[in-house]
Amino acid sequence: MENGIAGKVVVITGASSGIGEATAEMLASNGAKVVLAARRTGRLKALANRIQENGNDVAYLEMDVTVRADLVRLTSVAVEKFGKLDVMINNAGISQLYKMEELDVEGWEQMINVNLKGTLYGIAAALPIFIRQGSGHLINIISTAGISIVPTMGVYAATKNAVRTLSEALRQESLGRWRVTGISPGYVATEFVSNIKNEAIRNTIQAQADQMAIPAEAIARAVVYAIDQPDKVDVGDIVIRPTVQN
Ligand code: NDP
Repeated sequence: MENGIAGKVVVITGASSGIGEATAEMLASNGAKVVLAARRTGRLKALANRIQENGNDVAYLEMDVTVRADLVRLTSVAVEKFGKLDVMINNAGISQLYKMEELDVEGWEQMINVNLKGTLYGIAAALPIFIRQGSGHLINIISTAGISIVPTMGVYAATKNAVRTLSEALRQESLGRWRVTGISPGYVATEFVSNIKNEAIRNTIQAQADQMAIPAEAIARAVVYAIDQPDKVDVGDIVIRPTVQN
């Protein structure tokens, strides 16, 4: 794998808003060729147009991370359009927050499907390409919710900590063939909170986010840092919180 950012082919799930969108823009402005993925194709198209107008290479694909074949299609787009896959960023994520006694089993399944299975499908789609190439980099967006455990976030945190655990195993299994980075954001100002269906909790979390959330670019800079390292250097875990977050 080449060093630095320029020329690298980077796939980003959840690129239609928030952290994924900011990361795509920052990587593209550093010369990466980015492949954008999410369900809201209009948002992807608008972002792709902005990136292209700035003279950078971009492709996008409407897809759903809960569908394994969509991740295979996604990594194939990278290889077919740009000839390789250097970095796979598993960023798409959702949260549904309730006390567990409220049995939001549907929400549990959604989070498992998007946050955990979606990440695993991304890994499954990227690894055969990395093995063929002899190089690659997986970046998984996790959460501080898995570090400081609080009521209502149990299942969300569990899906994120499952990703933390499998990321470490995958790093150890690499034996120099690929790099693995886990990035755990705290409160970040994105659309994430607005998708929480429990109104009372959504309002509480939104109020906290309004007070302290940091911009998505703070996380994008960490992604850029991890990718930019010399190829023998694996940045393992990064935690990025607002200074005032406990
Ligand atoms: P956003 O809601 O702005 O972005 C989430 C992205 O995930 C969207 O692009 C959305 O695209 C995509 N997505 C959701 N479900 C699917 C799906 N089934 N298939 C494909 N894409 C999907 O939130 P953030 O940018 O904040 O979230 C990004 C990551 O950061 C998540 O993993 C989240 O858990 C994590 N995180 C966020 C924090 C925060 O405070 N904001 C804190 C800690 C972690 P679309 O709807 O178009 O499919």
